[in-house]
Amino acid sequence: MSKTIIISNRLPLQLQILDNTIETTPSVGGLATGMKSVHSEKESVWIGWSGLTEEQLDPELTNKVNDALKKHQCISVPLTENDIDGFYYGFSNNTLWPLFHYFMEYAKFEKNTWETYKLVNQKFAEVVLENLTDGDTVWIHDYQLLLLPQLIRQQRPNVSIGFFLHIPFPSYEVFRTLPCREELLKGMLGANLLGFHTYDYERHFLSSVERILGYEINFNNITVENRIAKIDSFPMGIDFKKFHDAAILHNQKSIKERTEIQQGIDKHLKEEQNQSKLILSIDRLDYTKGIANRLRAFEYFLEKYPEFRGKTRLVMLAVPSRSNVPQYQLLKNEIDQLVGQINGKFAEVNWTPIWYFYRSMPFENLIDLYTSSEVALLTPIRDGMNLVAKEYIASKVNKKGVLILSEMTGAANEMSEALIINPNNFEEIADTIKIALEMPEEEQIKRNSALQKRLKRYNVEKWANDFMDSLGTTINDSEQSTQKKINDSVKTEMATKFLQAKNKIMFLDYDGTMVPFAKLPENAKPTQRVFDLLDMLHAQENTKVILITGRDRDTIQEWFGHKEYTLITEHGAWLKETNKDWELMERLDNQWFESIAPVLESFTDRTPGSLVEEKRYSLAWHFRNVDPELGKKRANTLKSTIQHLIANHNLEILEGDKVIEIKVSGVSKGKSASKMLTEKDYDFIFAIGDDWTDEHMFKELPNEAFKVKVGIKKTVAPYYVEDIDQVYDLLTAFK
Ligand code: UDP
Repeated sequence: MSKTIIISNRLPLQLQILDNTIETTPSVGGLATGMKSVHSEKESVWIGWSGLTEEQLDPELTNKVNDALKKHQCISVPLTENDIDGFYYGFSNNTLWPLFHYFMEYAKFEKNTWETYKLVNQKFAEVVLENLTDGDTVWIHDYQLLLLPQLIRQQRPNVSIGFFLHIPFPSYEVFRTLPCREELLKGMLGANLLGFHTYDYERHFLSSVERILGYEINFNNITVENRIAKIDSFPMGIDFKKFHDAAILHNQKSIKERTEIQQGIDKHLKEEQNQSKLILSIDRLDYTKGIANRLRAFEYFLEKYPEFRGKTRLVMLAVPSRSNVPQYQLLKNEIDQLVGQINGKFAEVNWTPIWYFYRSMPFENLIDLYTSSEVALLTPIRDGMNLVAKEYIASKVNKKGVLILSEMTGAANEMSEALIINPNNFEEIADTIKIALEMPEEEQIKRNSALQKRLKRYNVEKWANDFMDSLGTTINDSEQSTQKKINDSVKTEMATKFLQAKNKIMFLDYDGTMVPFAKLPENAKPTQRVFDLLDMLHAQENTKVILITGRDRDTIQEWFGHKEYTLITEHGAWLKETNKDWELMERLDNQWFESIAPVLESFTDRTPGSLVEEKRYSLAWHFRNVDPELGKKRANTLKSTIQHLIANHNLEILEGDKVIEIKVSGVSKGKSASKMLTEKDYDFIFAIGDDWTDEHMFKELPNEAFKVKVGIKKTVAPYYVEDIDQVYDLLTAFK
């Protein structure tokens, strides 16, 4: 039976060695909760590090750990202290984490930690491969395992792999600074489906792939060698019910049943005669969370609005995190100092402005804090999502409470009813705190009703199921493609038909089919292999070989004029039959050049890397060497700019692969190919090509023709090959 394999850096369990026995406690983090439905309902295993290094274990303990994990359908990846240092604290948290959160000055690139990162990803791959059977689905999580999709794909090309990034994906300008940027992108693209929290992260990723790897992108599909990888956004939700129900239960508790923290809060509120309002912040102590900014903004608020002194308090829970990374130790000192300074500055006998907790709290205390606070103030400088924002709203059973949320969090995209602030704007934060503290209850209820409705609907279970469903359809899409890949049996079938036929005609496109694209068109000259293949086909009995191309007549004459194949150039404007002169296939003129050429030239001047090609009866504007996004934009503007000129001169625009060509309307590869068929009664028709202009040919040739597209792209051709090597392989079969 096929199963799901979930893979994350850490397993969703905490392990402890107690008197030579192993104790397990399930983790309560967002990922563990989110994946619960995937992990428990279906046949599934979870692969990750147990939290215990190899140095902490002996063979006997290892067996015990494995047995304990097995009960929870978990399998551990054995890692040493050195692995954890280089892979986790090093490359993951000292390079990727700061860089992906735009803290470029903190990002260190060290060769040895990168080597360990690669090695540990390989160790993960080995454990996955040992446990993978055909038909399994793999879901890999987060930035520690960016290379893993590709490592698995290399060994098992047909496995279905999903990848989700839980942190932001940065803009291309930031990502490009990484020396290993290509390896990371290729690693990720081993997946069939790549998920991000927001459309912005998705957009940044696509742009990096396009600019760094030069892969073709169609909407959110990337052509990766011979596959399509799909990119999409899935904003991660929370277990709404868990927080909501816990808050209901909390509100029903008698005074005695309440936790110590809650009793403490109650006592203070009583002493302050309910005058004092609580502003809550909860985060891991991380420089991305904007904790120092928040403290300074709160200080500024107390200065600007002194009437709130004694009436409001910041309750700040900072959870210790990555404390062996130096940046985090510095941050801890900074926060400690700031809190001391602000408390020292404003404290009164009965009031201190900040309650600061540096520890983690159990779930029920989180609920105490969520339910008791009138305002939540979350000010990350960058945050992939921010689940605390969602948990705060979910815990507001009576729908009263105000969320102030940084626009730099993924959550801000979906939570527009919150008060959205720029975490660097103290003035705005101070004013917003005032607005929040004074917001009428009806407005709070209105905003929170809308927020809760969405959080309830798109909860974490829905998130996980959506991702899995989408991964399923991604795979089905490629399997259900109506095109047939040319394999040995199709090749044999075609070759047999070829042998049996009396009159054969073959249409072969040139660029992208017989030769790869070059940076400059004049460099894509035919190789000896191309000549040998064409000569071989031409030498077959009753076989007409036609090279059919958009290229200009003069170039093709220079390269192929000495050969006996039939040549059709400029998309069907010119024809050269064996041993004959060139003749026009259509009545054409080029008087219109003088009105269009200057427009194309002006676009070339403003678009670095583009060039104008003047053929006898058409003009082409090439943008293969232009920045991909600029190229697309300029091509669109160019089309609309020349639209009215086109209509006046009876011209048409042909969109090729990174080229826009203007020519007299009615000339096409399709029309010229059909014309060639009228000469004889052909009983074997074959056409092969890679781009849009070849689609005309595929459309106009009769159904019984063998039509083959080169590359995995949208086409009307019933067959495809993946690349030029496969074109050669196929043509070799016709002898
Ligand atoms: N959290 C916790 N114990 C604490 C404080 C926070 O378990 O003492 C949880 C909190 O409920 C939330 C998570 O930690 O689910 C923090 O997630 P978030 O997305 O806000 O930030 P991250 O730490 O993932 O950057």
